Amino acid sequence: MQQSTATMKAGVCPAPAALPDCAEREWTRNAIARLKDDGRRSADTHLLKPLFPGMKGVSVYLKDESTHPTGSLKHRLARSLFLYGICNGKIRQNTTLVEASSGSTAVSEAYFAQLLGLPFVAVMPRSTSRQKIAAIQSFGGQCHFVDRASDVYDVAIRAANETGGYYLDQFTNAERATDWRGNNNIAESIFHQMEGEEFPIPEWLVMSAGTGGTSATLGRYIRYRNLETRLCVVDVENSAFYDAWRTGDLQVTAPGSRIEGIGRPRVEPSFVPGVIDHMIQVPDAASIAAAHVLSERLFRQIGGSTGTNFFGLCWIAANMMQAGRRGSVVTLICDGGHRYSETFYNPAWLRENGIDIDPYRRMLDRFLDHGEFLPPA
Ligand SMILES: *Cc1c(COP(=O)(O)O)cnc(C)c1O
Repeated sequence: MQQSTATMKAGVCPAPAALPDCAEREWTRNAIARLKDDGRRSADTHLLKPLFPGMKGVSVYLKDESTHPTGSLKHRLARSLFLYGICNGKIRQNTTLVEASSGSTAVSEAYFAQLLGLPFVAVMPRSTSRQKIAAIQSFGGQCHFVDRASDVYDVAIRAANETGGYYLDQFTNAERATDWRGNNNIAESIFHQMEGEEFPIPEWLVMSAGTGGTSATLGRYIRYRNLETRLCVVDVENSAFYDAWRTGDLQVTAPGSRIEGIGRPRVEPSFVPGVIDHMIQVPDAASIAAAHVLSERLFRQIGGSTGTNFFGLCWIAANMMQAGRRGSVVTLICDGGHRYSETFYNPAWLRENGIDIDPYRRMLDRFLDHGEFLPPA
């Protein structure tokens, strides 16, 4: 690190001397310009409006984050984490970048690391999808695997220490690296795209939580803009978030989720319970059934966490219909389904994991076509 040559002794004014120029920051300026270029080459993501005959009086919107260059909502987060690290002076020329991830974030970070010519190491559970691992490696990233999801943090910190590198730490930094007031964050984009709709201010936003960063951004933005929209966060089995929100105990731990990208073994620092109006926890069979049903109706495959989001959205819509309320509800398509061809879309994997999706599929089809929301016994 460059130090000023004009050091100050207590109580003595230093003699004039050469001050540092900003040549040292040339790499930084170039890096920021490359990230801006990447942003300029991208358009905003679509807000889809599928029609379901059973959902009377409720309009459904899906913000499609699967179309980013790296295939998931984590493209936004990775870009923000890189800007945050660079602008804090932590990411410099030749800095080795390390991350703990369930895969999607590491794919996006590997892409940006390659763009800037920086080494990248991902620490992930061994169960991470083969397609995500291949994507990380194709961007020149290195993958380290751990057997238990809860080990990723310590192993990543150790790898950063050993290489003298920088731990991007999405689970801590997601909520602070994203500008919650606007700056074209995902919330601002959704509300802007809704402006001309029949119900432009949604009754509910529905989102699952991985880092918790997206739900934090949505919840803060709703408050900042003084809107009446409420936020429902949908959690999955074996995740700490739901119990933490319900009991207020942030020390809760859990075994670790089967739905890649969401549900965590601990309450992540980026999870902001105070901006969440309601939470539900749904069975994995419901999430995966919803992924199958929505994929069929959109004519393309979406990922497991999008199934969780969609099941939560249907639950909210069913409640609105029962209460005779009209309005719009919005959730996210977090990523596409091709990454999960060996798991959520593989009948053998579902059987091995004891997951029977058929009752929930029938239930969702009945709801989407006829408006009857009858959970399986
Ligand atoms: C990270 C992730 C989420 C959750 O988003 P957060 O902002 O981290 O809470 C949902 N789905 C997928 C596929 C993800 O990778």
